[in-house]
Amino acid sequence: MGVKGKLAWTLKIDKVSKPLFQATYRELLNLLIQSSSNVDEINLKLKNIGFKVGEHLLMDYAERIRKHAAAFHEFASTLQLAYKVNSGREFTNVWISEDKNTIKFSDENCVLCQGVQITDMPGLQYCNLISGVFKAVLDLRGFKGDTYQESCRALGDEVCTWTIRQLV
Ligand SMILES: [Zn+2]
Repeated sequence: MGVKGKLAWTLKIDKVSKPLFQATYRELLNLLIQSSSNVDEINLKLKNIGFKVGEHLLMDYAERIRKHAAAFHEFASTLQLAYKVNSGREFTNVWISEDKNTIKFSDENCVLCQGVQITDMPGLQYCNLISGVFKAVLDLRGFKGDTYQESCRALGDEVCTWTIRQLV
């Protein structure tokens, strides 16, 4: 896909106010925290919601994606583009393992947790919604893989990092 193609596609995506999105996301987290008995349960629920969100996004935009990932490591560029289109940001860093079965995506200014600081819930994956979206993309493209949030700025880490791993 050429640069012009990417830009044209980006412009066609409807935008929503960032404060509105962030306030809604915070309330979603509050609801999950109140209705869950531990951090693992919150992380799992958030990932499941992300999976549904991913399905919606794919249904809406799949036909616009001209080149689908054929090999697992191609998700590095597929998901970079999807992130850019939906968040307006590029990942700060994308890392592919030597065996090409693990990819890590980092953002040093993640939109989901901007301004959020959580000190009393170790292990919380505040931005795990993204892991669920990634899982939906992998599943629907026929890849067996696992996704999770590895680090989180809201919890004090330098960057938010999401990892996807192909199960072989
Ligand atoms: Zn984040």
